[in-house]
Amino acid sequence: MFKKYRIVWLLLLLILCAAAVPGKKVEVRASNLRQLKVKAPCLSMTRDEIELKKGKRKYIGMLVFDAERSDIVWSSSNKNVAVVNKLGIVKGKKVGKAKITAHIRGTDIEETCEVNVVNYKIYRVKATAYCNCASCSGPGHPRTASGTYPKQGRTLAVDKRLIPLGTKIEMNGHTYYAEDTGGAIKGKKIDVYFHRHSDTGRWGVRYVLIKVFYDK
Ligand SMILES: [Zn+2]
Repeated sequence: MFKKYRIVWLLLLLILCAAAVPGKKVEVRASNLRQLKVKAPCLSMTRDEIELKKGKRKYIGMLVFDAERSDIVWSSSNKNVAVVNKLGIVKGKKVGKAKITAHIRGTDIEETCEVNVVNYKIYRVKATAYCNCASCSGPGHPRTASGTYPKQGRTLAVDKRLIPLGTKIEMNGHTYYAEDTGGAIKGKKIDVYFHRHSDTGRWGVRYVLIKVFYDK
């Protein structure tokens, strides 16, 4: 009987031996790492850059792995511009830029986030349009009140008592500059520059929200 099944027993023995020989590849599992207490701390800022209004606070979101939040040391490259507390909440102090760094204590792991501190006011203004033609600007006005050549998509005329010349202004998601003035542009009124007179008619009169950035 054994003789009859000898081939089967031999095969079974071979299979058992093959299973007992350790393989060359060692499988690394998360559970093994935990048993070995291997730590791989890392952190990641959710944003590389933030805009922060002067006087306001903002939390810099961060993901932390294998480290305690209390192991993170926060610092600012320019404390006159922005300061940061132990929780990663940044406060804007002055218009300018500062780098905020989160560092895991006892490691060389750190991440930075650039904070752009800005100061602005939002106004609702009556916006008309003009070009350099004689009917819009009178004869002989090739340059703006600030001495630049006007450019469509950049030049706005403002009341410089409200908005100083050279000021950056955001309107409808575009960036403009206060470069010009006008006899009828007083108070909360602006004039939008166009190259062609026909485009000024297309603009007409609109009420828009503008974001005026101040230097201080
Ligand atoms: Zn015109």
